[in-house]
Amino acid sequence: MNEKSDSSRDMLSWQLKTLLGEIQQIELHETGDCPCILNAENPPERCLGKHLLNISTLSQETASMDSQNREWLRKLATEANQRHEQFREFICHTEELPELADWARNWRKHYIEPNYYTCKVKQPDKAKSVAASLETVKLTSGVKAIAGKLPTDGNTPVTGCSLREDSKN
Ligand SMILES: [Zn+2]
Repeated sequence: MNEKSDSSRDMLSWQLKTLLGEIQQIELHETGDCPCILNAENPPERCLGKHLLNISTLSQETASMDSQNREWLRKLATEANQRHEQFREFICHTEELPELADWARNWRKHYIEPNYYTCKVKQPDKAKSVAASLETVKLTSGVKAIAGKLPTDGNTPVTGCSLREDSKN
């Protein structure tokens, strides 16, 4: 799926790491005790506006570098910019503080982290662990196949054991 316009893996990893850091800053400021959420300081604290704009520009930039993740990165850029604009109104006391904690958490957990915390599989040392995990899959499905042939009524010890085996994986 690599298009010629895509940047290197290291570069995309850096973009995602920086984006993740900015998203986590939103969560820290918004759910912590930062004076920025009270908007009572003079001059006002603008940290949330800064992080929102960074998220918008970073995800817009990353979208043009990563064809696989382009769609959600563009959506994130738009949503972050909308919240940045609302934050500007909040500073002027003409708008409420935008809802940011759940918004940031959702993007972090469902989009950024799954793409950032990925593992390289090329290294020779990893071949063994990949083979081992494949073996585990085979064994697990074997256990399931056996369990499927057992009577399903009642809690027989054998079924209980195989269920516990499954939960370890
Ligand atoms: Zn703050």
